[in-house]
Amino acid sequence: MVKLMSYAGPAADDAFGTRTGGVPHVPPGFEWPRCRECAGPMQFLAQVNLADVEPGRVGLLSVFMCQNDPGLCDEWDPSAGGNRAFIFLADAAHTRTPPGDGITLLDEACAVEFEDIAAEDYLDAPERWHQRSGRPVREVLGQLGGQPAWLQNDETPTCSSCAEPMAFVVQLEEGHDHRTSINFGGGGCGYAFYCRACATAAFLWQR
Ligand SMILES: [Zn+2]
Ligand SMILES: [Zn+2]
Repeated sequence: MVKLMSYAGPAADDAFGTRTGGVPHVPPGFEWPRCRECAGPMQFLAQVNLADVEPGRVGLLSVFMCQNDPGLCDEWDPSAGGNRAFIFLADAAHTRTPPGDGITLLDEACAVEFEDIAAEDYLDAPERWHQRSGRPVREVLGQLGGQPAWLQNDETPTCSSCAEPMAFVVQLEEGHDHRTSINFGGGGCGYAFYCRACATAAFLWQR
């Protein structure tokens, strides 16, 4: 079974819960992440309510990636410093205005709906969803939980704190509209993970 995420229309920029785009909910005192390669502020891509993955779990997984110099900041790499992923807990209740410089927000905040699709693998799920719903495959925004469907090799990251393999949270597609979509190199997928014990997160993308 695959928990498919699909586009559910535009969301408010500060909508609670799982969405792509908009402004992030962050804890007090949060500093907007900057790219280790170019020092510019990162672009906020998405936040995922962890309760959507594991019922009862409190927190948000939040993903940022540099887009100030696309392709030049190793933004696909989980540890090079061109992206950042965070686990925020219950105090992530306020939105944070981005810095005035750099590329920091997507051009659309997208609401997400979930649907269980009877497929062995995520790579088969969008076509099945399309056949049932009649909606374009482009409106598939990814999958939540389960197993990552790697486009290249398995690159499951290990926790920077305890060195254990991290748990898969979400696979993200670029988006339903090329004018507002995330840049994973044109047709790539993003993958976010977390460590339950350490509340750390990691992100990478492949194409
Ligand atoms: Zn950069
Ligand atoms: Zn850990």
